[in-house]
Amino acid sequence: MSEVKNWHLNRLMQYPYDEKRPNKQLAYVFDTNKCIACQTCTVACKTTWTSGKGQEGMFWNNVETKPYGGYPAAWDVKLLNKMGPQEWDGDLYTGQTIFESQDAGERVNGHMPETEDYAYPNLGVDEISGVVDRGAFFQGAHNVWMYYLARICNHCTYPGCLAACPRKAIYKREQDGVVLIDQSRCRGYKECVKACPYKKTFFNMVTRTSEKCIGCYPLLEQGEQPRCVQTCIGKIRMAGWLSKPGEERQDNPIDYLVRIKKVALPLYPQYGTEPNVYYIPPVHVPKEFLWEMFGPGAEDAIAQYRAIRNDPKMMAAMVLFGNTPKIITRYVSDAKYSIGYNEKDEEVVRVPLIEPFFERDMFDPIKNVYRHNTA
Ligand code: SF4
Ligand code: SF4
Repeated sequence: MSEVKNWHLNRLMQYPYDEKRPNKQLAYVFDTNKCIACQTCTVACKTTWTSGKGQEGMFWNNVETKPYGGYPAAWDVKLLNKMGPQEWDGDLYTGQTIFESQDAGERVNGHMPETEDYAYPNLGVDEISGVVDRGAFFQGAHNVWMYYLARICNHCTYPGCLAACPRKAIYKREQDGVVLIDQSRCRGYKECVKACPYKKTFFNMVTRTSEKCIGCYPLLEQGEQPRCVQTCIGKIRMAGWLSKPGEERQDNPIDYLVRIKKVALPLYPQYGTEPNVYYIPPVHVPKEFLWEMFGPGAEDAIAQYRAIRNDPKMMAAMVLFGNTPKIITRYVSDAKYSIGYNEKDEEVVRVPLIEPFFERDMFDPIKNVYRHNTA
């Protein structure tokens, strides 16, 4: 075991390999407050990558309803229970990670889902957190709640799947941090399926190998964002490059939201894999649940998010979501626009900070009709 620095936990931790960060890291920001669970991302991914034989139950992208939803069933609850107490002292994680709490002879503390756990991809969809009492009515605050959690492989800095593979078939690309399974080396031992705390490696019964999200690397190599990001109806997603800790840039929208404002947080940071999908937490959910899911920064993140009008730079970063297929590596804003640039420093998108407002006449003399304005 090596000692590696995990900035999510604010401490050193044990990992089977030495710390080796890629030149740049693929990272995503998902705004949970905007997801409508339309599953367009799920279908876009499925039709692009997993429509073959043996891939029927594979959802490299899925969207589940929290608190009760999950694919495979109870993927997170089972591991959280197995790990035991996960405590924080401020922003220092004092509990154990999956690389520090495993049984003797194991590299990772994981669990293997039952076949049945993969049977219901939409288990718990739209279920709320409690019972609506008879006579209850909406009063502005939420006495019951639910929210949608979109999930993909996190292309972790310290992947559990990679750590557990006895064949060294899983590797992390130096050029972009994408985590891939070498199909020619994989022998189907399923150690990665057991070890991935997010359950984002899947076993293919036909090819007898494991498969997982590839971050749409053919698109990344052309300066484009992955399919799930490009197709997102709710415009909740942005993908780009996260700088190494200490090298973050104010003009990189991912760095700004993740490292500088800390408005987007990792999912279950206590697992220890340093996942690279960052979530803006839902604003209406009890804080205890958010602490468990996104760590101790959840309340601050929500406060930052609510105060977005006081931060033009954050506003400028957020309006870029869903408005270009291209990866934005630098952005600037003026009084009217947020402008994104690609790696060659060419302008790829220009989005108004305030949408223009048009009011049309009630009567259209050309068509001879009356029209109501609805916006
Ligand atoms: S496409 Fe976007 S809005 Fe629709 S379910 Fe996926 S993440 Fe949510
Ligand atoms: S989310 Fe799972 S499959 Fe993806 S890199 Fe992390 S441990 Fe591996």
